[in-house]
Amino acid sequence: MKKVLLLGSTGSIGINTLNVIRNFPEEFEITALTVNTRIDLLEPQINEFNPDTVVVKNEKSGSELRKKIANKCRVLTGEDGLIEAASSLEYDIFVGAMVGFSGLAPALEAIKRGKIIALANKETLVVAGELVTRMCKKYGAKLIPIDSEHSAIYQCLEGEKNNCVEKIILTASGGPFLNKKKSALGTVTVEEALSHPNWKMGNKITIDSASMMNKGLEIIEAHWLFDIEKDKIEVVIHPQSIIHSMVQFVDGSIKAQLGLPDMKLPIQYALTYPNRLTNNFKRINLPKIGNLTFFSPDMEKFECLKLAYKVLNEGGTAPCVLNAANEIAVDKFLKGKIKFSSIPQLINEALDKIENHKSPDVETIFECDKKTRELVLGLS
Ligand code: MG
Repeated sequence: MKKVLLLGSTGSIGINTLNVIRNFPEEFEITALTVNTRIDLLEPQINEFNPDTVVVKNEKSGSELRKKIANKCRVLTGEDGLIEAASSLEYDIFVGAMVGFSGLAPALEAIKRGKIIALANKETLVVAGELVTRMCKKYGAKLIPIDSEHSAIYQCLEGEKNNCVEKIILTASGGPFLNKKKSALGTVTVEEALSHPNWKMGNKITIDSASMMNKGLEIIEAHWLFDIEKDKIEVVIHPQSIIHSMVQFVDGSIKAQLGLPDMKLPIQYALTYPNRLTNNFKRINLPKIGNLTFFSPDMEKFECLKLAYKVLNEGGTAPCVLNAANEIAVDKFLKGKIKFSSIPQLINEALDKIENHKSPDVETIFECDKKTRELVLGLS
């Protein structure tokens, strides 16, 4: 029986993680669940999965929840609660399913304890990839990606030698604006940006998919996860989202991983690795899909993709600036405060204004994140 600490249990990945765990009551038990604000969704999860501990965003929602659930489990609150859960509870697998930079600090605690880190929170690797991978080696923690592209690559690399990889081919659906002209991106609405053709996800990642920043973050994530240079990571648009990514080897052979666009599969793989367990998820019907198509992304239209390659090249805290600026810019767009096309502009401005620190430690990363957020909040 493996014990699971699930951070972000009411988001899209969190709910799907519980959907997977529900299928395997003999294999997994939940040690703790953490949420941001959705305590209405957390309550039924507590009743079903009986965690020892839950963590909610603040004291107010904490006391509200305590009243509702009486003494069913311990309720911790805030950043401190997340750190306490990650650093002191008994668990085998840390599932990082929360959104954004806030996933970093608890992940570092789990790494220090040499846990298995099933990572959906790509921001952790984007902002602190160098530090995180170094610490994983030092403490013997194992990172297993949940991001579907990276899970695909991870699966393709099984049984292969690292020095045999020629390149990684990250597939991208292209999002809702794949066929829009660059000049039209200034007037797209929030609603249009939120209607992803293939995947049902949270708001932040859906906007990132529309701007292709999601793929940009995934390039950086792949660089750290698989220890591969940026020139060897190619992005290919594949609108059907059936091939989740590929690896090309030095002999020219390419391995691909296919599946329906459903996060339950990469989540299950991360939880059961290196084993595979039988499930009843829907299977692919290839004749029904018919065609799989591919083409190169328009780097001029999707400026965020270009920015991601740029920060990877610069290294240091540049990816942290990119991420923080993007989080604030996306939030501003969702609130109707800026145009969609302003997202890369704000990020560019932040990259110009914030100083880059090489080989940053945790404190430097947190400082850089904070500084960038303050700067971008003041921009329009
Ligand atoms: Mg992905």
